[in-house]
Amino acid sequence: MNAATGVSNVEAGVLLPQALQKYLDAIHEVASTGIAREIELTFDALPEAQRKHYLVQFVSEPVQNGAAGVLAIYVDITARKQAEAKLREREAFLESLLDTVPIPVFSKDREGRYLHLNRAFEEFLGIAKQRFIGKTVFETSPHELAQTYFDMDEDLFAKGGIQRYEFKVQNASKAVRDVEFSKAVFHDDEGRQAGLIGAILDITERKQAEFEQRAQFERIVQLNRRLEDKALELSDARAQLMTVLHTIPDMVWLKSTAGNFLLCNHSFEQFVGKPKAGILGKTGYDIFDADVADFFRERNEAAIGAMHVCVSEEWVVAPATGEKTLLETRMLPVFDAGGTVAGVLGVARDTTERRRFDERLATREREFRTLVENSPDTVARYGRDFRRIYVNPTFASLSAGGAEALLGKTPSEFPGGPSTVLYEQQIAEVFASASDREFELTWPASGGKQLCHLIRLTPELGPGGAVETVLAVGRDISELHASRGKIHRMAYFDALTTLPNRVMFNEHLRRAISVRSSGRFTAVMMIDMDRFKEVNDTMGHAVGDDLLREAARRLLACVRPGDTVARFGGDEFAILMPEVADRSVLERISATIINQLDEPFLLDGREVFVSCSVGIALHPVDSTDAKDLLRYADSAMYLAKRSGRRGFRFYTRDLTIEATARLSLESELRRAIDQGELELYYQPQILLRSAEVIGSEALLRWNRAGEGFVQPAQFVPLAEETGLIVEIGRWVLREACRSAAQWNAGGGPRHRVSINLSARQFQSRDLALMVKNILDETGCRPEWLEFEITESLLLEEDDSVMSALLAFESMGLSIAIDDFGTGYSALSYLTRFPIDTLKIDRTFVQQATTDRRHAELVKAILSIARCLGQRVVAEGVETIEQAAFLDAHGCEVAQGFLYSRPLRKSDIASFPRYLTAGTPGARTVV
Ligand code: C2E
Ligand code: CA
Ligand code: CA
Repeated sequence: MNAATGVSNVEAGVLLPQALQKYLDAIHEVASTGIAREIELTFDALPEAQRKHYLVQFVSEPVQNGAAGVLAIYVDITARKQAEAKLREREAFLESLLDTVPIPVFSKDREGRYLHLNRAFEEFLGIAKQRFIGKTVFETSPHELAQTYFDMDEDLFAKGGIQRYEFKVQNASKAVRDVEFSKAVFHDDEGRQAGLIGAILDITERKQAEFEQRAQFERIVQLNRRLEDKALELSDARAQLMTVLHTIPDMVWLKSTAGNFLLCNHSFEQFVGKPKAGILGKTGYDIFDADVADFFRERNEAAIGAMHVCVSEEWVVAPATGEKTLLETRMLPVFDAGGTVAGVLGVARDTTERRRFDERLATREREFRTLVENSPDTVARYGRDFRRIYVNPTFASLSAGGAEALLGKTPSEFPGGPSTVLYEQQIAEVFASASDREFELTWPASGGKQLCHLIRLTPELGPGGAVETVLAVGRDISELHASRGKIHRMAYFDALTTLPNRVMFNEHLRRAISVRSSGRFTAVMMIDMDRFKEVNDTMGHAVGDDLLREAARRLLACVRPGDTVARFGGDEFAILMPEVADRSVLERISATIINQLDEPFLLDGREVFVSCSVGIALHPVDSTDAKDLLRYADSAMYLAKRSGRRGFRFYTRDLTIEATARLSLESELRRAIDQGELELYYQPQILLRSAEVIGSEALLRWNRAGEGFVQPAQFVPLAEETGLIVEIGRWVLREACRSAAQWNAGGGPRHRVSINLSARQFQSRDLALMVKNILDETGCRPEWLEFEITESLLLEEDDSVMSALLAFESMGLSIAIDDFGTGYSALSYLTRFPIDTLKIDRTFVQQATTDRRHAELVKAILSIARCLGQRVVAEGVETIEQAAFLDAHGCEVAQGFLYSRPLRKSDIASFPRYLTAGTPGARTVV
């Protein structure tokens, strides 16, 4: 063909312009390049039915004159083109068909690339198909999931057939759905595997239904199994039930509505006293007395009527024993499957014992309550919060506000006070320890009274063993408490001055010296009032007591706080001074004490002057022993006394020796009484006119073992000081009475015996009684005796002296004033007291003949006595001149060495009745 035109008429007639142009372009290209090419050409100008398709190949071909020629070779491809169109058509059809299928469907090629996806697929996953087409799962899904899909696909390719499997997939709305994949392989024309096609079936609902079905089934199976078990159990149940019923102590039975026994246990059989065979099928009337049967029937009917359990209690006679029995019965209607009453189940318990126990308990409780309510002890019960749950009337009566104020309160709330805190502590401890507690408690009772109770707390345990309440019983020991306090005060304090006494002082002393304090002393000071005895003797005990009280006050004012001022008895005071720096302190304090006691005391409206002596011993200088210190201070005090009044002395070693002697004398004297070393001597008394012996004065002698006679002056003051004189005096009295009785026994002229009485003897109230007893005992008549007392005794304002003297007078005893003229000579007492005789002291007698003033005094005494009708005895007459003087001035009786020294008793008997001048009186000189 011609390359320049290239177109034959044929082509121009069958091709539309566009196709024609494409045809011409190809020719020109091949012509100009020389490179062959091919195009598909459709004769599209022809009607559809005749239209043909060709594959046209253009090859350059040289032609003459050098012009390039193009050769076009036509290959008819009409058949193929038609097949292709058909295929495309089918595919489109298929595709639209698949889109109408509601199941997601997909296809992949052999390499796993998605080929087709239908609309359902897009909708199911919510993804446009464009995102899948041409891609593998590895590009569309997470790797792991993709691998699974890939493996499954490969498995399908390997095995062929149809592959089904269940899987879980997330759908468009992100819900996980159960799906079933169905896949199959498709092949190409040559039978090679070309790919696969798959469908996704949403089986979620089906699966759910399946699951539900399976569960339902399981349930049924299980129910069935349980029913089987139950059936098995039920077959044993009756036997088991009966076993249980037989073992319980309560009576159990079952009755039909008609009243026939259907079942009963052993307890019921025992109660009835018949075996089962005799009960079942019978009614209550066959078994019990009519009234019991009536009762049971009535209860049955009540239970049926009420449709629930009915409880009642009744005394019935047990058929088996005939004993009255209290039955607590429970009746319960029993229903059949249809809900109608089939019978009555009865359970009865013998509560006779329990009732009796309850009654006993109630009685006991009543008894206890009566006991508690009438107890003189206080009784209270405390709860865990320490509040009172109960108080007895005694407790209520002691508290202001009574039970109302006490109940529901804690001790610290009412009555309160410091002791109640301790009380609550004790209660807490009883709760904690569950053990008893006992203690003393002082608390404020009603009327502001302080009471002391001995409280005993007892835990009360609950059934669990824990302390639930605490019982408090309190015994009033206020009196005991008070007397204990009194005893303590009496044991440790001096009643008169309220100062500590010797016992307490000693305790303080021991304590003070047990504490080591370097370089300091503990001082023991003894104080004795120099004229106390005199005041006491002359002004009376009451005044003496006042003096002591005032002295105590003054002493207390002189010492430091922490020092102990004590009264040991009499006028004996002691001061303990711990922690003394040096002697100068003590000197200063001693001086103060002496000055203070030097100040006049206003007693009974009179100014009285006393003074004191102070002795001091130092710890540890003088001794480290408490007893020694006291002794040493005492010795020092005696030295001070002897060295003149109003002084103080520190202890020195020399003092010990003297004090020891004094002490040993005292103990010796005590022994003397026991061992009969005492003896009475008698000094005759003479009528001056006739020289007749009319009596004698009894004078005491101590025949001290190994030492000979000790004169009264050496031991009588000591005996008076120590009180020994009372005992000695009694001995003297008895002894003298014996002598008087003996000498007067003959009934001749009277021999009167004078007996010296010490003031101390009048302090014992029963002196007159003692005298009377001794007179009776010895057979001595009162007129055979005369008692010699000192003036000072009469100065005492003490009724006991007066009453003793009056008693003596009424007994017929006569009284003489001894040593008349030396004392206070307050002559008024001469008229007030029943005085018979005045004994002029020998100092006046002896100086009457040498000293004018003494002579005048003696004369005055004689004239007073004469006026008052009193007898006068002159003592210590040693010379004839003295005797003459006395006689000349009207003195009747004389006594003295001129006539006789004191004689032994035996010598008196042989003494002549009348003395002639120059009679040698002193035959036995002592
Ligand atoms: P008094 O009651 O004044 O006793 C008289 C004292 O004078 C006696 O001393 C006696 O021995 C002494 N005497 C008698 N005639 C003469 C004389 O011519 N010249 C001198 N220089 N002295 C004479 P005595 O026996 O030593 O008694 C001393 C004191 O002891 C008594 O003094 C009396 O107070 C007391 N006493 C003696 N016996 C007892 C007693 O049994 N009981 C009591 N309470 N005191 C007694
Ligand atoms: Ca005398
Ligand atoms: Ca005398």
